[in-house]
Amino acid sequence: MFRLKRKTKLIHGGSPFDPQTGAVSVPIYQVSTYKQDEIGVHKGYEYSRTGNPTRHALEQYIADLEEGARGFAFSSGMAAIHAVFSLLSAGDHIILTDDVYGGTYRIVTKVLNRLGIDNTFADTTSLDEVAKALQPNTKALFVETPTNPLLKVSDVAVLAAWCKAEELLFVVDNTFSTPYWQNPLALGADIVLHSATKYIGGHSDVVAGLAVVKNDKLGEELHFVQNATGGVLGPQDAWLLMRGLKTLGLRMEAHEENALAIVEYLSGLDTIESIHYPGLRSHPQHELAKRQARGFGGIVSFDVGSGEKASDMIRRLKYFTLAESLGAVESLISVPARMTHASIPRERRALLGITDGLVRISVGIEDHEDLIADLEQALAE
Ligand SMILES: *Cc1c(COP(=O)(O)O)cnc(C)c1O
Repeated sequence: MFRLKRKTKLIHGGSPFDPQTGAVSVPIYQVSTYKQDEIGVHKGYEYSRTGNPTRHALEQYIADLEEGARGFAFSSGMAAIHAVFSLLSAGDHIILTDDVYGGTYRIVTKVLNRLGIDNTFADTTSLDEVAKALQPNTKALFVETPTNPLLKVSDVAVLAAWCKAEELLFVVDNTFSTPYWQNPLALGADIVLHSATKYIGGHSDVVAGLAVVKNDKLGEELHFVQNATGGVLGPQDAWLLMRGLKTLGLRMEAHEENALAIVEYLSGLDTIESIHYPGLRSHPQHELAKRQARGFGGIVSFDVGSGEKASDMIRRLKYFTLAESLGAVESLISVPARMTHASIPRERRALLGITDGLVRISVGIEDHEDLIADLEQALAE
């Protein structure tokens, strides 16, 4: 078999036809249960929590795109993350990226801790810092790369080799890069996760999560958890994600082209205190980002100096919608310290560099000339 190029794979990956009818868009199987011919004799589906043909098509599709053994679709990114953490047991310890998504920080520090799963947050851009966090009961490393909102990049291949030596489960949240730009399993990770609410859905109309595992053994274990805990994705939403994925390549390239143009514009302003984007040559992990991923993505964060200045700018913007979330066709803007990262205590935010003046933009696929003109008028004193 020859290896498909990425845009072809987005169209022909998984099993893109309905096996029953040949329909080129897998139908929405809006069904909860399935007729059995005799007790225990069925066509592979018994009950839709355990398996549903529409969800199954999406699960095969994402497994193919992430080059893994098996995929799983959940009712949200957090449900996917929760399911993966449910592979652990009381007494275990996890190491996580320090500026991880706020919801991941919250489940680890407010839910898993109560269940006896301990944690250490570390700067995963440095293997030394990660190694320092290792304990005799450490069972997993959870890395987000690039991170939200500071776009820090961790070396997946280096961390994967270390996890292998230490016999740890290595989980990567690939939400920001998507399988179009980055494939953590191919770099040695065991499980890759997505908030499919973001780029994979891509149209701000569905909340969903995906996980892909590297081998059948992990596949069995995660399917057991998915079925046992039940946070599955419904067939309508599974269908929307498949529809979204078809254009992932086109969208990711458009997001990136616009992001690069905006970064270039912002770089020329002396009123901006800092710009975070892996595509900038001044980004601390620029070379790694180039090596590890095929693109830099569409998220840019920059510091306008103060929370007040951030509010003023946002009030004047016309085409950057003030909203949580990211990764959809329309441009969005947020203030992490007061929105997505508000659940992280202030002192910890300061330590991480998530200042009050830091704004994050999720660059949409509009014409970048209009986006830049909008930023220009909003930033004018
Ligand atoms: C949004 C997000 C999540 C959580 O996903 P939901 O779909 O909102 O539950 C997890 N990780 C990252 C990086 C995210 O951006």
